[in-house]
Amino acid sequence: MVGKVPVGGGAPISVQSMTVTKTADVDGTLAQIYALAGAGADIVRCTCNEEAAAEGLARIVPRSPVPIVADIHHQYRMALAALDAGVHCLRLNPGNIRKPEHIKAVASECKDRGVPIRIGVNGGSLDPKLYEKYGGQTPEALVESAQTELAYFAAVGFDDVKISVKASNVPLMIESYRLLADTVDYPLHLGVTEAGPPPAGLVKSTAGIGTLLAEGIGDTIRYSLTADPVEEVVAGRQLLEAMGLRERTGMDLIACPSCGRAEIDVIGVAKEAQEAFAKEELPIQVAVMGCVVNGPGEAREADIGIAAGRKRGHLFVKGQVVRVVPEEDMVEALLAEARALVEEGVEARLAAADSGAAAEAELDRQALLESQGDDANNSEERIQLIQKRVTQT
Ligand code: SF4
Repeated sequence: MVGKVPVGGGAPISVQSMTVTKTADVDGTLAQIYALAGAGADIVRCTCNEEAAAEGLARIVPRSPVPIVADIHHQYRMALAALDAGVHCLRLNPGNIRKPEHIKAVASECKDRGVPIRIGVNGGSLDPKLYEKYGGQTPEALVESAQTELAYFAAVGFDDVKISVKASNVPLMIESYRLLADTVDYPLHLGVTEAGPPPAGLVKSTAGIGTLLAEGIGDTIRYSLTADPVEEVVAGRQLLEAMGLRERTGMDLIACPSCGRAEIDVIGVAKEAQEAFAKEELPIQVAVMGCVVNGPGEAREADIGIAAGRKRGHLFVKGQVVRVVPEEDMVEALLAEARALVEEGVEARLAAADSGAAAEAELDRQALLESQGDDANNSEERIQLIQKRVTQT
């Protein structure tokens, strides 16, 4: 348990982030913690690098909406000070606090207070001895670093831990966690460290974290982005929701990539829809499709959607057209229908459909098919060409 949040043992996978304010700035840090919690963070970490930070934590902890982890790097005294401040968890970097008596003192104090510790091994700050022994950052070196720390903890009878073995190199990160999961039976905190700014940072983190989650490895996650930490939380939540590991709290927008058939600016309308829905908590799948020829069919699994055709939008619920609206009202109509759908349910909204909508929509579809043809790729002609060429050779 990190405060009231369970980690591991079949608990929902939690999302973490870290504040970038000075922890001594209590109001600034609390404002950021609230923003992170509002975006869906379950746990927030703050650095505890100096006495003023520890004092700040003493004021922050009782006012925080989520459990607080204190990040300790070099000074074990800061770990003890953070415990005095009442934090819910410590993160220790074994590469930075190396004196066994210091590590044991912190573990012993955590045991007495019932506070867990994350052993946060980081490829970049690996103990030089391990670096030398293994000839660099390797999965074995990272896992041995965690095991050494575990042994110090065991010496004082403490095992309330979770572990991370982060690296900035994605394949190394993945291999390290796989080895760790085979070696120990503790909750694991996943992350690609120093992933950098989006979009590359998002891609690297998703590749590493997503791969491991798909293998059933990992209990809590953090995206380490060079960006507003709220972006880390949004990405973490979205990954878990996309993988079906956390319940959806907001809209899942699907949109076609657009093509020559598109009757609208799909990218623009999708963006407009995303912004309009961002202010709502509607846990449904919404589709924005560029044309009525293929759109409603391809998005029939979506709860609700809109497809464009002949300056009009076809609004559909579970693939069935319920209304035809002017193109400029598409997003507004989509939002209004989405709200009604969440409130009343699919059956009620299908029953409330405009009686002539389906027929009207079919007319648009047929007209577009006539003007564009039903085969945008001219497949039949191409196949004939291929057959001709093959027979000639
Ligand atoms: S829905 Fe229409 S516009 Fe969008 S990709 Fe498919 S065919 Fe193209």
